[in-house]
Amino acid sequence: MARAEVLCIGTELLLGDVLDTNSQFLARELALLGIDCFYRVVVGDNPERIKECVRQALGRADIVITSGGLGPTADDLTTECLAGVFNAPMDMDEEVLAFIRELFASRNIKMTESNRKQALRPRGADILPNPVGSAPGIVWQLQKADLDGAGIESSYVSALGRDNPYRVILTFPGVPSELKAMWTETAAPYLARYYPAGTIWSTELKHIGIGESALAEKYAHLLDLPNPTVAPYAGRWECRLRVAAKAASQEEARLLAQPVVDEIRQGSGVTLYGEDDDTLEAVVGRLLTGHGKTLSLAESCTGGLITERLTDMPGSSRFLNCAVVAYSNASKVELLGVDAEVLNKYGAVSEEAALAMAQGMLKLSGSDLALSVTGIAGPEGGTEEKPVGLVYVALCAKGAGVEHYTRKLSLGNRVNRSEVRWRTANQALNMVRLYLLEPAALKV
Ligand code: AMP
Ligand code: MG
Repeated sequence: MARAEVLCIGTELLLGDVLDTNSQFLARELALLGIDCFYRVVVGDNPERIKECVRQALGRADIVITSGGLGPTADDLTTECLAGVFNAPMDMDEEVLAFIRELFASRNIKMTESNRKQALRPRGADILPNPVGSAPGIVWQLQKADLDGAGIESSYVSALGRDNPYRVILTFPGVPSELKAMWTETAAPYLARYYPAGTIWSTELKHIGIGESALAEKYAHLLDLPNPTVAPYAGRWECRLRVAAKAASQEEARLLAQPVVDEIRQGSGVTLYGEDDDTLEAVVGRLLTGHGKTLSLAESCTGGLITERLTDMPGSSRFLNCAVVAYSNASKVELLGVDAEVLNKYGAVSEEAALAMAQGMLKLSGSDLALSVTGIAGPEGGTEEKPVGLVYVALCAKGAGVEHYTRKLSLGNRVNRSEVRWRTANQALNMVRLYLLEPAALKV
């Protein structure tokens, strides 16, 4: 399998002013081509450090991909640094120069002297065309003798065959749309031709109601597998297991991963809520639609977040009936019909209040299900008895007698306000999911 290293160049990336999204794009694309990526490096616009990173990357990867530093200004140093590493002279590419000239003429802008710099390339390198911008990149195939001549020590012995170039450098401008266009049109087909290694298929199995460490323990025997690999990732009060397999084709890789995916699907039961792009709210929406049930909401501390997440989906009118944000005590009484006595006696953040809100909403809306939340999102408003992060959730279902379920959440004061709201929404949505899938799971 070929090995690539991604080197993103730009001081703005190091300072955090611009988020390095090119690495993410390239990493995913390399995985699809079945090319390993062991290092992704970010370096500022400093010639010595850029050259050092290039030497290091060439010492441990077959393919070095750079992004950034191809512009006309003084801080655009990539091409000359690459030439510098190999002591290669820079040639003016007349075709590129003519192209840049035409581009400026067609836009009716005067071409400056500095733009000529974008047509320079190290001797021996080819042009990597840029279909959407002025600066092309280069494709530079290098031999072992080139690396020896530059004094680059290689700790890495490539397992590739003799038909592959010993090393190759591909350069891209930093502008993401230009990088993507160049990648898709030229670089990806080039790499697929020279490094026909296969591909990676992966899926994410999304869990809720089980922590990352519990999940890792449960599937400890899978975490050391070489192919497919299984890795846990903690999310925002959910946890994902990523199963990835390498093979010659997507279909072969998927088949390789299948037994492990099936084992997790069976073993996780209702803690597995979805896969890949599934969101919790989408899963809940699908279940409600499938069961032909309607839902209404009475939200307090989540301020409409649950409603927003559910109504983000097209078709939500099929299952969502009515939603009220009842923030003040008065609104809980007047809109939802909560008995003022309940609020006086137990407080607005109590199991009793949550239940009365859900029952009130069930009556008001005539829905099959009503969900309510009330809690203290913080950072102020907590007491010793009722600290920040204390939340109650209630779910009522229309039936012979009104079925109801409540949950008390103690989220602690170390999570911030938005996190309290998000986690509460997840818990509340999950209660609806469990009710529709396996009500017994809610009774515990
Ligand atoms: P450059 O090619 O270095 O002149 O970069 C052009 C612009 O592309 C910069 O001003 C950034 O806004 C953007 N850019 C550079 N590198 C990246 C990167 N790795 N990810 C996303 N945007 C980038
Ligand atoms: Mg730059």
